[in-house]
Amino acid sequence: MKNFSEKHLLIGAGFVGLGTARALKQYGIPYDQVDADDDLGGNWYHGVYRHVHIISSKRTTEFTDYPMPPSYPDFPSAAQMLAYLRDYARHFGLRENIEFNKVVKLAVPTSDEKWEVTFADGEKRIYKGILICNGHHWDKRFPEYPGKFTGELMHSKDYRNEEVLEGKRVLVIGGGNSACDIAVDAARAAKEAHISMRSGYWFMPKSMIGIPTVEFIRPWLPVWAQRILLKITLRIVIGKYESYGLQKPDHNIFEKHPTINSLLLYYLKHGVIKPHPDIKSWEGKTVEFVDGRKEEFDLIIAATGFYVSFPFLPAGLIKVKNNIPQIPVGNLHPKHKGIYIIGWQQTRYGVGPLVTAGSPNLCELILVQDKLVRPAGMIAEKIGMKAPNTHLADPMKALKSYKRSRIQIKLMPFLEKLFFRNQEYVPPSTEEYNRESASSVQYF
Ligand SMILES: Cc1cc2nc3c(=O)[nH]c(=O)nc-3n(C[C@H](O)[C@H](O)[C@H](O)COP(=O)(O)OP(=O)(O)OC[C@H]3O[C@@H](n4cnc5c(N)ncnc54)[C@H](O)[C@@H]3O)c2cc1C
Repeated sequence: MKNFSEKHLLIGAGFVGLGTARALKQYGIPYDQVDADDDLGGNWYHGVYRHVHIISSKRTTEFTDYPMPPSYPDFPSAAQMLAYLRDYARHFGLRENIEFNKVVKLAVPTSDEKWEVTFADGEKRIYKGILICNGHHWDKRFPEYPGKFTGELMHSKDYRNEEVLEGKRVLVIGGGNSACDIAVDAARAAKEAHISMRSGYWFMPKSMIGIPTVEFIRPWLPVWAQRILLKITLRIVIGKYESYGLQKPDHNIFEKHPTINSLLLYYLKHGVIKPHPDIKSWEGKTVEFVDGRKEEFDLIIAATGFYVSFPFLPAGLIKVKNNIPQIPVGNLHPKHKGIYIIGWQQTRYGVGPLVTAGSPNLCELILVQDKLVRPAGMIAEKIGMKAPNTHLADPMKALKSYKRSRIQIKLMPFLEKLFFRNQEYVPPSTEEYNRESASSVQYF
């Protein structure tokens, strides 16, 4: 077994893993980085369909310290996103440190508070800690209905381009961004395009008065004022969702990840995409909706989301409830040192600014851990830091909380002395963790 116990292992070289690597390098924290795929970029390399463009604008998505090229449009394509990430890696010299085709199969804490990592190729290494940036758009969630659909059923994750839609009666399930993009592709390429939604969503056009919608919403406004501003503007620009055959939203704006798509509404108004409520049951190729209507389909695409999961961690190490890791701040383990879960939240706008602002905190945590006897997560728990109550990240709130947590991190050695005075620290038992278990999950 190779011993890298002075280094951390960074798992994943997607958007978040790259931003984290840049911060580690800046702080001079030794690390190795691995990715399951044969190149960097994560989703923007292997996980999105051909026509996708971001819904968050380039300004709200780029790393704050590395702007996207001025030649980019407001909503770059997947290819432009990938080129940007490659450029970012080149600029900060990150690629040299990434091992590709290196899948982490199992990572277990050891009795001397290190991490034993087993790779899919059988290699084992010891690390001081693990930084988990494995993404949250890969563990497919499928819907379940009574009966058995015998047509083609695929998840949006496996959808690549419209060739698969051609000549088919297609139903897309879901009301999120992927569902709408794929329904729009179906409107152009399929024999019939239908969409089924369990409830109503807030659909927003990609831009309003010439400004990307995510920038139109002034982030410094309180959320209640953002909601009023948006509701008034949406009523003027779009009108009532019911006039498109859609259901009225059953939640307030921002309580779910917003759906930003200008073309769905366009095709609904042209009758090219047909809206449906939830599915009641399916049998053969027939789908019955809850309004009693029945339709036949050749292909159903379930754009029904993903589970947040960490299949290389032993069962019981981290519980995930409603897609939220049940650990302090969703990042730190209350019993084990050296494990950091990063980037599992769904940000309302783009991912870059939060990574740029949040990754220095992670580095500060790693450095402060050396000054602590106990895991930083144990101290965080003691001072009342809980798991977040939502998997959605409000960018402004997150940025403010980073400033607060920077102070808390600096104070951790003092807080440890204060709260654990005269208490002996016994490292946690690691007996319960199965070192043999290995998952056969496919990551992309
Ligand atoms: C259709 C679609 C549209 C999107 N639109 C936007 C948008 O408009 N704006 C936006 O900000 N975001 C958008 N996203 C979200 C997108 O996922 C993020 O922008 C970003 O890619 C997240 O980066 P990440 O590093 O967390 O995850 P990923 O990009 O998924 O990267 C994770 C990496 O970890 C690696 N990995 C996983 N497990 C292991 C393992 N066991 N061993 C080794 N390596 C492993 C994977 O190979 C992967 O390269 C979209 C996503 C999808 C699917």
